[in-house]
Amino acid sequence: AGERLPLPDSDDELRSLAGALNGLLARRDEATERLRKFTGDAAHELRSPVASIRVQAEVAVANPDPELSQEVLGEIVRESERLSTLVDGLLTLARSDAGELPTAQPVDLVAAAEAAVSRSASTHVTLQAPTGSAWVQAAPTEVDLVLDNLLRNAKLYARAQITVSVLPAGGFVRLIVDDDGPGIAPEHREKVFDRFYRVQDDRARQTGGSGLGLALVAEVVRRRGGTVMVTGSPDGGARFQIRWKSL
Ligand code: ADP
Repeated sequence: AGERLPLPDSDDELRSLAGALNGLLARRDEATERLRKFTGDAAHELRSPVASIRVQAEVAVANPDPELSQEVLGEIVRESERLSTLVDGLLTLARSDAGELPTAQPVDLVAAAEAAVSRSASTHVTLQAPTGSAWVQAAPTEVDLVLDNLLRNAKLYARAQITVSVLPAGGFVRLIVDDDGPGIAPEHREKVFDRFYRVQDDRARQTGGSGLGLALVAEVVRRRGGTVMVTGSPDGGARFQIRWKSL
């Protein structure tokens, strides 16, 4: 038993009520369509690592050669890791869609960026950050997810150089990740944040990408009132820019 609208007592009121109802129905149809597409895409993505694990396991079972088994088991481990990443990502999105957010606390973006750069174990990453701290309100897992995904992509596409910048200014903290890779053509820039979107399907598949990385980045940033965007980088590749309100 929720709120009830008052009964209309004129044609004008009836018309405006019908208009409001039609708007509501259209929104519901769009939501249903989004959900249907998401479920279909997720099943499609889950299918390929599962099929691959199955085939490899069948090969291992049928073939007693220990050398071949080692190779096949290595493949199974890699595909299982891909599957775990995908399932974790889907769970994070599902929780977020349901309005469940991890607990926010003050997070220092400078320290988080330093840690992420050393986690990435890449020799080509330069960090430009102020001395001191740059605080934002978020869950530490969200900040790490953003940094790890942007760095993973940059490493995948950069030729030689990646620059991570933390820039506090005017009540905001910006995180910028620049690379000198092929970049992203303007017509794809909006869409790379969509769930399962890939610019080049084959390449992303080979690199083990799920097409969920940037969708997760956008989700956790926007849920905290931040913004995400991608442009061209002065270094020649892609520039990803995240903006959080500073604490
Ligand atoms: P995936 O997990 O498949 O890498 P993402 O959501 O992380 O998916 O990225 C979506 C797509 O955006 C990628 O498939 C790739 O085509 C493109 N992309 C992401 N980062 C970069 C980058 N730094 N340079 C060029 N293209 C990129």
